[in-house]
Amino acid sequence: MRRSEGGGGRRRARPPAILRRKSVKTSDGILMIEPSALSGTALIDELTRKMTAAWRQRRDADEGYRGFHRCACGALSDNKDHWVGGRLTNSLCIHYLAFHRDDIPPEELDKVRALTYGEEEPNKKELAGR
Ligand SMILES: [Zn+2]
Repeated sequence: MRRSEGGGGRRRARPPAILRRKSVKTSDGILMIEPSALSGTALIDELTRKMTAAWRQRRDADEGYRGFHRCACGALSDNKDHWVGGRLTNSLCIHYLAFHRDDIPPEELDKVRALTYGEEEPNKKELAGR
């Protein structure tokens, strides 16, 4: 899904600001990002549906001790760690895909694309990150 404009050089998809705090975890987790854009209309496509299906098969941490993730748009995660397809994530993962797609680095989208849980339609609660 790489756009080529102007030919030649590789374009860096994202400025480092997004990854500044969780840069170490980002390579292990999936969608452990910090969006900067405000949300618009929910984008429900193959990737959002794939993440939803995987989310419904997730493993949850027993204890909620991690604190909340607060999205730039105000959406709050729950306070637990979750594992989707063997990767650490938080409950905003579907929300990020639906509302902050432009802030997600291409390598994170590739991880979502690689999920093999089928596709399911997200509900309102899942889109809100709770
Ligand atoms: Zn948000």
